[in-house]
Amino acid sequence: MASVYFDHNSTTALKPKVLEAMMPYLTKQHGNPTSQHGYGRSARQAIEQARLQVANAVGAQSNQIVFTASGTEANNFAVTGIASNLDQAQILTSSIEHPCVSNPALAMQRRGWQAKSIVVDSDCNVHTAHLQKLLEAPTDLVSVMLANNETGAIQDIEKITALAREKKVLVHTDAVQALGKINVDFTASGVHAMTISSHKIGGPIGAGALVLNKRVDIQPLLHGGGQEKGLRSGTENIAAIVGFGEACALATENLPHFATHTVSLRDHLEVGLQKLEAVIFGQKAKRLPNTSFFAFSNIDGETLVTALDKVGFAVASGSACSSASSEPSHVLLAMGVDADVARGAIRLSFSTNNTVEQVDEFLTALEKVLQDLRQLTAIAA
Ligand code: PLP
Repeated sequence: MASVYFDHNSTTALKPKVLEAMMPYLTKQHGNPTSQHGYGRSARQAIEQARLQVANAVGAQSNQIVFTASGTEANNFAVTGIASNLDQAQILTSSIEHPCVSNPALAMQRRGWQAKSIVVDSDCNVHTAHLQKLLEAPTDLVSVMLANNETGAIQDIEKITALAREKKVLVHTDAVQALGKINVDFTASGVHAMTISSHKIGGPIGAGALVLNKRVDIQPLLHGGGQEKGLRSGTENIAAIVGFGEACALATENLPHFATHTVSLRDHLEVGLQKLEAVIFGQKAKRLPNTSFFAFSNIDGETLVTALDKVGFAVASGSACSSASSEPSHVLLAMGVDADVARGAIRLSFSTNNTVEQVDEFLTALEKVLQDLRQLTAIAA
């Protein structure tokens, strides 16, 4: 098992304080929040406290938070639920979205809507002129992620929202990768819906949320007992929700440190990468502080990930965060990167637990691994 973890955009370790907050709800406090008795009331109270913590972390009101089981569910809910209640028209998603946004749009296309992609430039920035052009046709929803999971590129969501609002079109943003890494403000951004997820910020897997402007008419994905004001039926995962709330509070507190610490590691890494002649993707974009995505010529990304794992470093390849496929990253292809170069991509994503010594060790190991792989290729040729 790899000993140095550089894959925090995939998932993060549960923070000790988060586990501590969750423990009572995993052990003795087992009430169902819809029950009227003391156990139920205490579970309800815990959920409402978490709702406030989550809302505070994203500049929203607590009545705007709908808890889900994951970011994937919240994205499916937003795209499907918003479009379903409108006349069939276009759903516009950027070409770099996570599949849990683009695939629901394609699923809606099979039901009669039209799914269209907004292009990005070579730095991974959404082309707002293209969005403006697409918005000339009747549109139900624009969904553009706040920060990309692979390159870390941060989109100009205020501008995107302003363009959509001019046409009275609703906007959703997937802020799963942005939360805890940059300032996220639901109200200031002007979006109508925003997705966040617990396990990317030191919370447990099993909780996410859709932050929703109350004026938006949305159809639930799950029908049943009417939990979450009828928007998401199913008995709440209390421990996970409590953990999510605590993780949100900690992430907000830790944000300035996260930004300065991880950006210094990232910059240090990229100086070393440049010496090794890496191609760094999206380097000119405004990016998440903790993310670096790069490739080396004639080196396969999956092979590099496996070789680095063997010498003690957990990193991600281009396609790893969304599927088990070995296809080149759709994000890089959308940026116009050649498929052969894209196949070489690997990603490092830091947290405050990582150190500059680890980065130095990584660079040394990387140089050696590259040499070995190139030697093997030369022998095979
Ligand atoms: N959106 C983005 C940008 C992601 O990176 C991920 C996870 O990798 C998701 C959504 C899905 O979130 P979850 O793992 O909570 O389903």
